[in-house]
Amino acid sequence: MKGMLGAMAAAATLGLMAQMPAAAQQKFITIGTGGVTGVYYAVGGAVCRLVNKDRKTHGLRCSVESTGGSVFNVNTIKSGELDLGMAQSDVQFNATKGVAQFKEGGAYGDLRSVFSVHPEPFTVLARKEAGITKFEDFKGKRFNVGNPGSGTRASMDELLTALGWKISDFALASELKADEHGPALCDNKIDGFFYAVGHPSANIQDPTTTCGAKLVSLTGPAIDKLVADKPYYAKATIPGGMYNNNPNPTATYGVLATMVTSAKVPDNVIYAVTKAVFDNFDEFKKLHPAFANLDPKKMVKDGNSAPLHTGAAKYFKEKGLN
Ligand code: GLU
Repeated sequence: MKGMLGAMAAAATLGLMAQMPAAAQQKFITIGTGGVTGVYYAVGGAVCRLVNKDRKTHGLRCSVESTGGSVFNVNTIKSGELDLGMAQSDVQFNATKGVAQFKEGGAYGDLRSVFSVHPEPFTVLARKEAGITKFEDFKGKRFNVGNPGSGTRASMDELLTALGWKISDFALASELKADEHGPALCDNKIDGFFYAVGHPSANIQDPTTTCGAKLVSLTGPAIDKLVADKPYYAKATIPGGMYNNNPNPTATYGVLATMVTSAKVPDNVIYAVTKAVFDNFDEFKKLHPAFANLDPKKMVKDGNSAPLHTGAAKYFKEKGLN
């Protein structure tokens, strides 16, 4: 009898679930980001906050994961363990075409763009006492080239190739994660690091404030050629005075941060994520100072080499943004 009742209760529950609108059933989505002191983590947090506000209508529960960065995020979306992730526009390009760090795995045909976000100028920071005034001064010094799996490392490798340098040109080429390079610099474990990141970022604020670390420009003929040759690079400037002890502007080049996903993620999920951001755009912009200059029209087009996900495209079309 007890078993019978249990079976009836189960049947009743099932019946109830079948009647529930799809939206009311919970679905978990995870966004892959970067180190917690970077800006990707803040983007993920801002997006999830806006998505979760509307949970009653779409049933999505959005959470953020701190990861090793762009290349890791793309590969983990591909394996189905992440639904969305942040990726540098150069990494998005390389994954779409199956070149550079994606040559071995081949082109990732199901990669989809959702929107681009803030610019990420390549940021080189030097220990105050290291006597560095230009990037060439790092030859024979201890330099953090970034962890494998980061977009930072992918861009660093491309820069070294363009300059005709080898990793052995550094006395030490460490592979610390972004959250670790600032403390390592101030502890005199390294003389400098390279980081593709939006500004302002807590990651750069800390070493410039704590130990007076100096921004180093990235300019010269090899960089001019890189920017001219590659569609995803553009010249960029880190404004003077944005960070303590760095009153002058720093000339460099860089990429755009983008949000990517897989064609396998359902339209209703990506539609809801896109809607959450763009229906609440003023609120989104206030969630991090690196979002201050974002322009919705540019976010749809710039930096996106993978096809737009059909869920995002549907939203943009409705709003006349696409
Ligand atoms: N662009 C960096 C990377 O992919 C991450 C920057 C960030 O976390 O804000 O390695």
